[in-house]
Amino acid sequence: MKKPKNLFFDIPNGWMFFSLLACLAFIAFYNLQNKHTDTTTRKMQFYSVSDFQRVPKIDGHFHYNSSDVRFLKFADSLNFRIISPNVDAGTSIDKQLEITTVIKQQFPGKFAFFGTFTVDNFGNSGFGKETVDRIELCMKAGASGIKIWKNIGMSLQENSGKFVMVDYQKFDTVFNYLEKHQIPLLAHLGEPKNCWLPVDQMTTPNDKRYYRDHPQYHMFLHPESPSYEDQINARNQLLQKHPGLEFIGAHLASEEWSVEELSRSFDRYPQLKADLSARISHLEYQSSKDREKVRDFLIKYQDRIIYGTDMSVNEKSTNYASVCEGMKRTWLDHWTYLATDSTMVFKDMPDTKLKGLQLPKEAVDKIFCKNAERYFKN
Ligand SMILES: [Zn+2]
Repeated sequence: MKKPKNLFFDIPNGWMFFSLLACLAFIAFYNLQNKHTDTTTRKMQFYSVSDFQRVPKIDGHFHYNSSDVRFLKFADSLNFRIISPNVDAGTSIDKQLEITTVIKQQFPGKFAFFGTFTVDNFGNSGFGKETVDRIELCMKAGASGIKIWKNIGMSLQENSGKFVMVDYQKFDTVFNYLEKHQIPLLAHLGEPKNCWLPVDQMTTPNDKRYYRDHPQYHMFLHPESPSYEDQINARNQLLQKHPGLEFIGAHLASEEWSVEELSRSFDRYPQLKADLSARISHLEYQSSKDREKVRDFLIKYQDRIIYGTDMSVNEKSTNYASVCEGMKRTWLDHWTYLATDSTMVFKDMPDTKLKGLQLPKEAVDKIFCKNAERYFKN
């Protein structure tokens, strides 16, 4: 009797082997294709560490108080442009204005600056007029905006000893002028919330160190001074009074301790922006507890956040190589944290491993560059 044909077993051995091989090859090829597509999609959506140098970036808060332009050239070699805010502290504001004006004239596309005014003459009856004159001088010299500093609210006092807050009526002339002339205001008001807490309750080791070493600035020890809430309230009053004033809150608008708090402020005040300078460690601290929360925050407000470091160069920056090395290390660290998902050692908490936020390219481009580009247009 003829055996019924079993198609499978009827195939000669050589053919069976060949079919099996073809099957395996197909599966392997299919997987490889998929992997390739995955990598390509990731490359399209996210940057890597190796993209750092290539991608255009702006450090929106870098104090350039040196006429040595080599640091700017070094920044340029890493595709960084620089915005230098003048500040009512340290080097005289005239000297700062002079340095930044000259650099801007030499490198208009690579360098921008914010001018400032002093509050030393706050008690004078001519304060408003003198300050407006100063602002006009800064703008004529090429400033992109005006910066105010924490001496308003933290140290400036009336004769009576009362602290002068930023929402004082006497400032109205100044802020009305800025609002009317569409001049952006970069405002460092208040301090990190840690400044009002006892050292053992502070969240980041760098703040613990700083306030332990500088008790005169540790507001927890000075209950006669305005509170953290007083600082934020005064700022909010100012925002309320001047809805048309472009307001960049330096140092995460001093709401560095909570992305929820800063979200609420962004929602309440459409004219509010914030720079990241000197406060990325606070984002890192929060993301070490809840990475997605911080990531979602940066994605949601990607149009209103400006990258910056608060690094500085001045006449004492004589060791060119080591200054440049420090600049590059800081910038690359921040890039790795914000743009990639690399695991990093948290500089201030060596026991805490930190995974980069890997923001989408679109958000990285805005935060690292596009949001600050308008300050190069005047
Ligand atoms: Zn600064």
